[in-house]
Amino acid sequence: MSMNKLVVANWKMNGSRELLSALPRFAAAAGPGVQVAVCPPFPLIALAVDRGVAGIVVGAQDCHAAPCGAHTGAVSAALIAEAGARLVIVGHSERRRQCNESDALVARKAAAAVAAGLGPLICVGEEDEGEDPGTVAAQLRASLPGGAPAGIVVAYEPVWAIGSGRTPAPSRVASVHAALRAALIAALGDVAGRAVPILYGGSVDAANAAAFTREQDVDGVLVGGASLDREAFQAIIAAV
Ligand code: PEP
Repeated sequence: MSMNKLVVANWKMNGSRELLSALPRFAAAAGPGVQVAVCPPFPLIALAVDRGVAGIVVGAQDCHAAPCGAHTGAVSAALIAEAGARLVIVGHSERRRQCNESDALVARKAAAAVAAGLGPLICVGEEDEGEDPGTVAAQLRASLPGGAPAGIVVAYEPVWAIGSGRTPAPSRVASVHAALRAALIAALGDVAGRAVPILYGGSVDAANAAAFTREQDVDGVLVGGASLDREAFQAIIAAV
């Protein structure tokens, strides 16, 4: 596993063209070995890429599982790649819940992302506090694309922690990440399984970020609400 840390902003259905002006500040806040990625809504992706901020990777928040076709309102992984993004979030709990996305669909979306040359950032996490880490590992196994996919990132996001201000103990995060690492090694083999970054997400802020990223197998953070606040997100990047 690489020693590098990854800090990903998920703007959800928020943000603006104006907020893109913060990208250079986010890049400047990153210490050595820290990579920052920003996932704005679709209309801002190409604008974010065109800013050309060194040190910022741009991503999307979802893609369709099909390469193209009659899917009004949907966006393919290939078009996201053409806009200049390099990764795409798939299986976020809000899409699993609000759009009834299953593990099988998430796996197909992840496969579509890989086929388009994007890194799929696959989100998994338990609904209720205290569930067995094995449940989350099983969700990951069912959400992985087949074959030997390149560029995968995994995010452990307990649903109960997202946007709630409540977080699991860092030791709990470490034990879930260990279960996810074992699942990745079983599915992808030792070298590829160890190379996949596993992020923690759910009410991350500047005060708690470092406590998570100090843990074994916590390779960074996925940040929702706090990534919309320039100072707060800058402080998280600096803390990691
Ligand atoms: C998220 O939804 O991906 C997330 C991590 O949200 P928040 O940081 O607001 O809990």
